[in-house]
Amino acid sequence: MGVFNRVARPAILAAARSDRLRRTAERLPVTRDVVRRFVPGETVADALSSVTALRDSGRLVSIDYLGEDVTDVDTANATVDAYLGLLDALGERREPEAKVRPLEVSLKLSALGQALPRDGEKIALENARAICAKARDVGVWVTVDAEDHTTTDSTLSIVRELRADFDWLGTVLQAYLKRTEGDCREFAESGARIRLCKGAYDEPASVAYRDSDDVDASYLRCLRVLMAGSGYPMVASHDPAIIEAVPAMAREFSRGVDDFEYQMLYGIRDAEQRRLADEGNSLRVYLPFGTQWYGYFVRRLAERPANFTFFLRALAER
Ligand SMILES: Cc1cc2nc3c(=O)[nH]c(=O)nc-3n(C[C@H](O)[C@H](O)[C@H](O)COP(=O)(O)OP(=O)(O)OC[C@H]3O[C@@H](n4cnc5c(N)ncnc54)[C@H](O)[C@@H]3O)c2cc1C
Repeated sequence: MGVFNRVARPAILAAARSDRLRRTAERLPVTRDVVRRFVPGETVADALSSVTALRDSGRLVSIDYLGEDVTDVDTANATVDAYLGLLDALGERREPEAKVRPLEVSLKLSALGQALPRDGEKIALENARAICAKARDVGVWVTVDAEDHTTTDSTLSIVRELRADFDWLGTVLQAYLKRTEGDCREFAESGARIRLCKGAYDEPASVAYRDSDDVDASYLRCLRVLMAGSGYPMVASHDPAIIEAVPAMAREFSRGVDDFEYQMLYGIRDAEQRRLADEGNSLRVYLPFGTQWYGYFVRRLAERPANFTFFLRALAER
C-alpha cells in the first residue's frame, strides 16, 4: 500500500490530465466494460434506470453529470442545459417530501466555467445559481464537489454566496487538506450540509497531509467538528474504520438517522451500502453518468491497488 500511494498513485493521477491517454482509453471497448463498474452509462436514461434500482433498495442518490475543466463558455452552457434536463427528469419521479431529500445532484464548478480566463468565477456562480433554482423547483438538493486545492477558496466563496438564497446547498470538504478542520468549523456553525471525504487529487505536502494515517486522523477530527455543529454531516467514505466510528459519534451528539448520512460511490462496497440502508440509516450513492468519464475513472483507479489490478486484469484477459 505504501509503494502504491507513493509511486503508482501520483503516476495514475498524472494520467488523468493527459489528453492523449484519455483519447486512447475512450476508444478501447475493454475500458468501457471496466468503466461500467463505476459509471452506469452515458445518457440520462441510463442514470434514471440506476436511480430507480438504487431507490428500490432504500438508498438515496446524488447524480453527477460527468465533466470538468471546461475551457469555453459554450461547453459550460451545455453542462448547465444537461443539468436542467436531468433535474426535469428527476422531478418527474415525484419522490415523497422528506426531511432528507432522496435525490440530489452533484456539480463541479470547473464544469460550469470556473477556470475561464475572464469572469470565470462569476460565470460559474451564475450557472450554479440557475441549477439551484431549478433544483429547488423540483425538490432536489444540490452539492458542490471539491476539486484540486487551487480551486478551494473560489469554490467556497461561490457556495457562501449561493447559500444566502439556497440554504440547503451543500458542499464538499477534503480531510487531506490542512485547512479543512477550520473550514469545517465555519460551515458547521452556519448549519450547512457538508460532505466530508478524504480527497481524491494529488496535492503537495505544503497544503495536504500525504500520509494515510494523518489523513484518517484529520478525517475523524473534522467529522467530530461537523457532528458537534448545527449542520448536516455527510460521511463520504468506504473506509471501515471511519464507518465504525460514526454510530458512537452520532450518539454522543444526539444525532438520529435523519441528522446525518453516509455516502459511497456507485459500484464500490455495494453490500456495505445495502447493509447500512437496511439498518435504517440514510445512505446516499454518488452516481456519475455521461460521456466524460475519463477523469473520474482514473481517480478511482488511483484510489486502491485492487481497483487498478481489476483494470489491468481486464486488459490482460482480452
Ligand atoms: C460520495 C462521495 C463523494 C465524493 N466526492 C468527492 C469530491 O467532491 N472531491 C474529492 O476530492 N473526492 C471526493 N470523493 C472521493 C474521496 O475523496 C476518496 O478519494 C474516496 O472516497 C476514497 O477514500 P475512502 O474514504 O473511501 O478511503 P480509502 O482510503 O480509499 O479506502 C479505505 C478503505 O476502504 C475500503 N475500500 C475502499 N474501496 C474499496 C473497494 N472498492 N472495495 C472494498 N473496500 C474498499 C478498504 O478497506 C480500504 O482500505 C468522494 C467520495 C465519495 C464516497
